[in-house]
Amino acid sequence: MLKENDELIIRCPQLGGEVPFRYCRTINEDLPCRRIIICWEFRIEISKYLSENYSIDQIQRALAPPTKSRLETILELAEKAKKIKEEEG
Ligand code: SF4
Repeated sequence: MLKENDELIIRCPQLGGEVPFRYCRTINEDLPCRRIIICWEFRIEISKYLSENYSIDQIQRALAPPTKSRLETILELAEKAKKIKEEEG
């Protein structure tokens, strides 16, 4: 059941405060937080929960590191080039 753990509370290392499981499972565009396995593995059967409630595709999307878009990569490179130029100049 998707909502079975919603009321459980954990201390979130990112926020520095307490959050309910409901928050952890929806924070990532309605998908689980990237850290959900690390945070919850000692509290509930998190792997089982994920496999029962989400498709492989959803789990991969939720847990995979964010891939940079082309634009972000280009902007980052431009920024780097600018810095190098400033240092040289
Ligand atoms: S799973 Fe994410 S939102 Fe939930 S406690 Fe861990 S870091 Fe915080």
